[in-house]
Amino acid sequence: MPASFASAGPESKQRRIVPLPKGIVAMQTFIPDSSVVSDVIPSPNFGERNKGRQPDMIVLHYTGMPDVESALTRLCKAGTEVSAHYVVLEDGRILQCVQEAKRAWHAGVAKWAGEDDINSCSIGIEIINRGHDWGYPDYPLRQIAAVIALCRGIIIRRGIAPHRVLGHSDVAPARKKDPGEKFPWRSLAASGVGLFVEPARIEPGGETLKHGAEGENVRALQQALADYGYGIAVSGKYDHATAEVVTAFQRHFRPEKVDGIADTSTLATLHALLGILPADAHPVAAVG
Ligand SMILES: [Zn+2]
Repeated sequence: MPASFASAGPESKQRRIVPLPKGIVAMQTFIPDSSVVSDVIPSPNFGERNKGRQPDMIVLHYTGMPDVESALTRLCKAGTEVSAHYVVLEDGRILQCVQEAKRAWHAGVAKWAGEDDINSCSIGIEIINRGHDWGYPDYPLRQIAAVIALCRGIIIRRGIAPHRVLGHSDVAPARKKDPGEKFPWRSLAASGVGLFVEPARIEPGGETLKHGAEGENVRALQQALADYGYGIAVSGKYDHATAEVVTAFQRHFRPEKVDGIADTSTLATLHALLGILPADAHPVAAVG
């Protein structure tokens, strides 16, 4: 057995299908929460969910690292303070690194629908993809099929609402681009994962709001984005932060053109989504 393959524990008769990256201490393994998991690589980077908060959100990421080994090292090595519950490889294999009951450290500083401890209310899934800084390859179909199967199981077990399946960029628009505009949210929604409407057509002309604009129309745009769940100040000023949230919205819901400008297609797509959002979507935000 090569040195890079660690034993999965005394009860395990199989060697790992994925080599443990160097520098990762083999930890006590656990029984995976999902039947589609092919291997467990325990990460020490987790804590307890705040006040016993049960997860009712899924946050999807790409790893943004040049290769699988560096991504797994980052997620599973003590001291990096980063982890995720699941990792989906390009060939469709699924690893679990943190038990769903625990609080994995994937979202960082983030906000959605009035909550800012996103790690406590969510399950984090890292999808192996080099990301924007390393050429941003397409997601293989086999990998997307695995993401869908994994999410469907979590959604059914935990009763997660479609509008609570989000990308990292949705909950941290100022810092994050993942999983990015190539991520096929439309395909996921067609398989019952996430909320999606066919984006309104991009057409020339019409009202366009962009950086520097001010007034009631900007305020209405910001309110609509906040109503959907985005963490955005309703100031009436189309500032840099507003452009970042519009960019995040486009990456997820209108990926054909990601430019941070609220054109008629972006506005129409946003309002179509609000039209199908459940009335009880924002119990936290509604209080304030
Ligand atoms: Zn991420």
